[in-house]
Amino acid sequence: MSAEKRELRPATRLVHGGTMRSQFGETSEAMFLTQGFVYDTGEAAEARFNGDDPGFVYSRYANPTVAMFEERMCLLEGAEAARAVASGMAAVNAALTCDLKAGDHVVASRALFGSCQYIIAELLPRFGVASTLVDGTDLDAWRNAVRPETRTFFLESPANPTLELIDIQAVAAIAREAGARLVVDNVFATPLFQQPLALGAHTVVYSATKHIDGQGRCLGGVVLSDAEWVEGKLAPYLKHTGPSLSPFNAWVLLKSLETLPVRVERQAASAARIADAVAGHPAIARLFYPGRDDHPQAGIARRQMTAGGTMVAFEVKGGKAGAFAVSRALEVVRISNNLGDAKSLVTHPATTTHQRLSDEERAALGIGDGLLRLSVGLEDPEDLVEDLLRALDTAVPSELRRAS
Ligand SMILES: *Cc1c(COP(=O)(O)O)cnc(C)c1O
Repeated sequence: MSAEKRELRPATRLVHGGTMRSQFGETSEAMFLTQGFVYDTGEAAEARFNGDDPGFVYSRYANPTVAMFEERMCLLEGAEAARAVASGMAAVNAALTCDLKAGDHVVASRALFGSCQYIIAELLPRFGVASTLVDGTDLDAWRNAVRPETRTFFLESPANPTLELIDIQAVAAIAREAGARLVVDNVFATPLFQQPLALGAHTVVYSATKHIDGQGRCLGGVVLSDAEWVEGKLAPYLKHTGPSLSPFNAWVLLKSLETLPVRVERQAASAARIADAVAGHPAIARLFYPGRDDHPQAGIARRQMTAGGTMVAFEVKGGKAGAFAVSRALEVVRISNNLGDAKSLVTHPATTTHQRLSDEERAALGIGDGLLRLSVGLEDPEDLVEDLLRALDTAVPSELRRAS
């Protein structure tokens, strides 16, 4: 069957799309653990190298299993082209660096994954690329940050860990007007619940380590965009700098895409159930879930996301001690810094993922000492609700505890 047909729905494309069968006609996609390729003749090798024959040359440039993963991601995202790389950070770094030179300027939202912040605020300036961090929710701040040499906009929505949303369509319009390209890190939304390219972004990046693997096994990343940019800018950069995805990891990720909708829809349904169950608990000062009407940007969530996602954040009363007490009391949910896993994971951003920031920087991002970020897994949602309610109950003085 031709899964490339546009009429097929995402879940179908994720099972069949991009499959390249070998001469053996295998059902499941083959894992091509090979560095290189052999040629029948010198002429054949020459034709591969000069591009007359589009076949494979060397796995740092391209590999059949990696190519199947890239094609399946393109079909999911509705992108013209993609390149898979070794990690999410390799994807972010390549998407930015392949297109920038000394003298250029980048504008990014302040609420960023720590390593994205490092690349934009520390690494790029060392090579003469200036950057400005703005409050991503303030459209005037994006407009005012633009300079004649602004070349790239970068954002993450929902942002880690506060689940703050940025209006992607509006920022994409500002980028276009400025002659800049908008790159969106779409990890928290997942490719199923938010499609930045359709909202006007030029490039989408993923850490495939998260929901795409979804079972905590291997690292991976992917960059998706228009064919001209991918072939002209991204592909040469990757080919010559070498952050290649291993074919083994590509195979794991390729097979994971088959189950992505089943997993992520279940996780999002559980996240919504958990958010409703714990909201209003006396131990919680504030709760953030993009699928709830009380999310500060519920309108944006409805416009650009098709579900609230798999992450829930909440501020526990009593600061760090309160947050640690709740984390410690959890029996099913595990303490970890990762997300998007089959296992539910809780993170205390102020002491882990965002420890590097100053108190003032954390306060500006809304990362309080009591904030916990929950990545909802595939366990029975009722076990998760019971686990969380029991843990939250331990964190409130007995006179305030729920009658239940
Ligand atoms: C995890 C993550 C990354 C980095 O991905 P790795 O695969 O760990 O390199 C980048 N952005 C966001 C939003 C992430 O959650």
